[in-house]
Amino acid sequence: MVILAGAAVLFGFATGRFFLIGLLAALIYLGLHLYQIYRLEKWLQIGSELEPPHAYGIWGELYHHLYRRERRNQERERRLRALLNRFQDSAAALPDAIVALNSKGEIEWLNKAAAKLLGLRAPHDIGQSITNLVRQPAFTALAQNRVSETPLQIPSPVDGSVYLLVRIVPYGKDERLLIARDVTQLQKLEQIRRDFVANVSHELRTPLTVVSGYLETLADIKDPDWVDSVNAMRQQTARMQHIVEDLLLLARLESDKESTRDKQPVAVPDLLEDVLREARELSRGQHVIESNLDPNLLLDGHRSELYSAFSNLVFNAVQYTPAGGRITVKWHTDESGAHFEVADTGPGIAAHHVDRLTERFYRVDSARSRELGGTGLGLAIVKHVLTRHAATLRIDSELGKGSRFICDFPADRTRARSGVTAG
Ligand code: ADP
Repeated sequence: MVILAGAAVLFGFATGRFFLIGLLAALIYLGLHLYQIYRLEKWLQIGSELEPPHAYGIWGELYHHLYRRERRNQERERRLRALLNRFQDSAAALPDAIVALNSKGEIEWLNKAAAKLLGLRAPHDIGQSITNLVRQPAFTALAQNRVSETPLQIPSPVDGSVYLLVRIVPYGKDERLLIARDVTQLQKLEQIRRDFVANVSHELRTPLTVVSGYLETLADIKDPDWVDSVNAMRQQTARMQHIVEDLLLLARLESDKESTRDKQPVAVPDLLEDVLREARELSRGQHVIESNLDPNLLLDGHRSELYSAFSNLVFNAVQYTPAGGRITVKWHTDESGAHFEVADTGPGIAAHHVDRLTERFYRVDSARSRELGGTGLGLAIVKHVLTRHAATLRIDSELGKGSRFICDFPADRTRARSGVTAG
C-alpha cells in the first residue's frame, strides 16, 4: 500500500497528472483487494484446515487469525467426538439393555445388550415404535406412561426363561431411556429363599403339633416342680406354632401374586364384627373399643386374607395400648375409595421406625413384642395382603400420642351390598 502510494506520488510529480495517476493507483489497490477476496473465497471453499495462501499486510494477518481459529475449532471438535465415542462405546458395552426413545416412543439408538435381551436390531429397528416390537400388555402400559416410578419385571421376548427388570427414565427434551436388566439370577435366588422358608416352616409344623399335643396332656399336672416348666413349654410351643403359621401364610401370599382365586365380594362389615368380637375377648374389658362401620360397603377380594390383615392391625392396637386406652375401628368410603382405619391411644411409634415396620421380624421393642406373643410378621402380612388387593398402608403415629393404621382400597374394588344403591 505504502509502495503503491509512493510510486503514485513520484509518477504524479514526474508527469504532472496527479488525478489520472491517483485514479490508476486506486484501481490497482482495489484490484489487489478483490484478488485477495477471491483467494480467501477459494481457500474457504477447498477447506480452511489447509495451509492459508501466502499474503502480506492486513490480508496476511487475516489469513493467520482465521487459520488459527479453524485449528482450535478442529481440535475442540476432535476432543468432543472422542468423548462422544467413548460414551457410546461404554453404553454399548454395558450388560444392561439401553434404548433411547424419542418423544413419540420411537427408537433412536440401542446398545448390543438390547439386541440380546429385547431382540431389537440396529439399524433395522431404528425409528420403529418400541411397543410394536416388544409386545406385552404390561410393557405397553409401562412404555405409554411418560415416566414409571416402579420398575416392571417381565420375561424377555427373546427367551422366556430370562427375567428382565425394565425401567423408563426421562432425559433431554421429552426423550426417554429404557433400561432393562437381566435379573434371572436374582429371581432364582428369591425363589430359592421362598421355597426354603416355606419348606422349613412346613417341616416344623408336624413335630410342633406332636410336641404341643403331648404338652396338652401334661397341662393337668399338679406337681409344683413341673407346673411352671410345663406352662413355659406350652407357651413357647404355641409361639413357635404361631410363627410357623405366619411364615406359611406369607409364603402363600408371595407365591401366587396374580391369583384371582376365590376373589369375591367380601362382606367387610360382618368380617369386622368377628374381628371386634375377638378383640374384645383379647382386651378382657381393659380398653374402650369403638367402631364406625359402613354396613353396606363390600370389597372385592379374598376373605381369609382380609381377615388376617384387619385382625393383625386391630389385635396389635389392643396389645400395644395400655389398659384404659381407646381403640377406634372405622370402615368407610369416599370418592378415592374405601378405607379401613384403626386408631389407638397407645405408646405411638417414633418416626424413624415407621418405614421399616412392614419388614419381616422388625420390631420397635423386641422384648415387649415377644412378651405379648408377637411374631414380628403381622405387618409384613398386612402389607402383602394389601398389595394383592391393589391397596396401600398408611401409618400415622406420634410417640406418646397413639397410632393410626389406614388401609386405602381403590374405588373400583368396592361395591354396595345388593339391594343398596352405592354413593
Ligand atoms: P409383632 O408381632 O411384633 O406385633 P408386627 O409386624 O405386627 O409384629 O408389628 C411390628 C412392630 O410394630 C411391633 O413389634 C410393634 O413394635 C410395632 N407396632 C405395631 N402396631 C403397633 C401399635 N398399634 N402401637 C404401637 N406399636 C405398634
